[in-house]
Amino acid sequence: MTDHAPRLFWFRRDLRLSDHEGLTAAAAGGPVIPVFILDPETEALGAAAKWRLGLGVAALRARLRARGGDLVLRRGPALDTLRALVAETGAVAAHWSRLYAPDWVARDRGVKAGLRADGTGAQSHPGHLLWEPWEVSPRAGGCFKVYTPFWNTVGPRDVPEALPEPTLTWPAAFPTSERLEDWRLGAAMERGAAVVERFVSVGEAAARDRLDAFLERAGGYVRDRDRPDRAATSGLSENLTYGEISPRLIWHAARRTGAPEKFLKELVWREFAWHLTWHTPRIVADNWRRDWDAFPWRGDNPDAERWRRALTGEPMVDAGMRELFVTGTMHNRVRMLTASYLTKHLLTHWKVGLDWFADCLIDWDPASNALGWQWVAGSGPDAAPYFRVFNPALQAEKFDPDAAYRRRFLLGFDGSRHPDAAAWFDAVPRSWNVAPDNAPPTPLIALAEGRRRALAAYGGALRVD
Ligand code: FAD
Repeated sequence: MTDHAPRLFWFRRDLRLSDHEGLTAAAAGGPVIPVFILDPETEALGAAAKWRLGLGVAALRARLRARGGDLVLRRGPALDTLRALVAETGAVAAHWSRLYAPDWVARDRGVKAGLRADGTGAQSHPGHLLWEPWEVSPRAGGCFKVYTPFWNTVGPRDVPEALPEPTLTWPAAFPTSERLEDWRLGAAMERGAAVVERFVSVGEAAARDRLDAFLERAGGYVRDRDRPDRAATSGLSENLTYGEISPRLIWHAARRTGAPEKFLKELVWREFAWHLTWHTPRIVADNWRRDWDAFPWRGDNPDAERWRRALTGEPMVDAGMRELFVTGTMHNRVRMLTASYLTKHLLTHWKVGLDWFADCLIDWDPASNALGWQWVAGSGPDAAPYFRVFNPALQAEKFDPDAAYRRRFLLGFDGSRHPDAAAWFDAVPRSWNVAPDNAPPTPLIALAEGRRRALAAYGGALRVD
């Protein structure tokens, strides 16, 4: 049933129009006022994620304008802002898609309670995940702590078909909007924005194109997904993070076109990360395994700064850290080995690395980032065993056998003059004082020595025989 009273739709990490349960529900009730709020939780995002979010918001606004609508931009705490919009527009309800990180859950609960106390409808909807975290549980109850049984439970389930884009109607007039440019969401990116811009794929249409292009080459996924020198993976994490495409649409497209099951299994790692984050929120900030609290991690330290600045002297590690700065993403295999180098060879707390990734990644996702770091460090629920210390030199031999990846990101490596390697010098802060003609860094620590030191520390602190 529809009436003329408008509904607010509060966009957050669902910057799309198709397969959108929340938007579809709002549109079924009456005219829709799409809203995006720069609230304190959004202000707190890392530099790259905040900048990239701004691009996504601009793309969504353009899409809504093309349909005769608009996206109203407001800055302030979410509840106050929605209340003001209700007062200005006579909206009878606010809708949004659910999120599952602890800070966002706390905010959304407060918003829902506040609006309902005012007599305004407040409705949250699924859409960020294939399955709500509470819809999947082991027979014995509780939550899954290990990926394989999680996959065995959800893999065979039917996934409802993706929804078409809803027919949207608009109010007679939109409330005033702030200007996106005035928010300066890219301010903390400094020189990096001009470089990373070349590698982003922004918005719903770009996400669909990216999916289609990936499905064309998905036959090579199983063979090449671990090769950072090949474009074998989908790159869709960037779009999934901002909800520019739904996991359900990806799931069905992959099934329909016969993409390898391995790809669906990777998509389900994202689900698993959110499942764990919802059920055990401490995963985003603390050791998931409490016995790891006794481990003598080093806090932030000069070696970690060399790691951040891609000057460890380990070519595969430095190439990864430069890929991060130049493209805003990093290949999964290289995320694992750079994380291993920081936490094991440099014995530095995984949170130091987690924070740096949160600042630099355009596909930053609090759940996957935390799960990834704790998996590598060994402190997570379903983690690599402590004795798994990635050797970056052996990883390079195996996964970058022709050195194409290292040449792409390390200027001078093997005589490289690759433009992406040169771009790193344009992207990094001037205060780092790095120049193409600087001598290459010497290794921070011999790999065998780093491994021995890590194993001794882990064995001692955790009494592992
Ligand atoms: P594809 O191989 O094409 O996979 C398809 C989708 O499956 C991805 O887009 C992603 O949504 C999901 N996926 C794939 N691998 C993983 C994984 N290991 N864990 C969870 N989901 C996965 N991923 C993020 O999206 N954001 C992060 O902040 C993030 N931080 C990470 C930090 C560390 C230390 C590690 C080891 C991994 C991290 N990952 C993170 C997971 C993974 O590296 C990326 O999802 C992947 O590189 C994205 O590339 P793609 O889209 O081409 O993946």
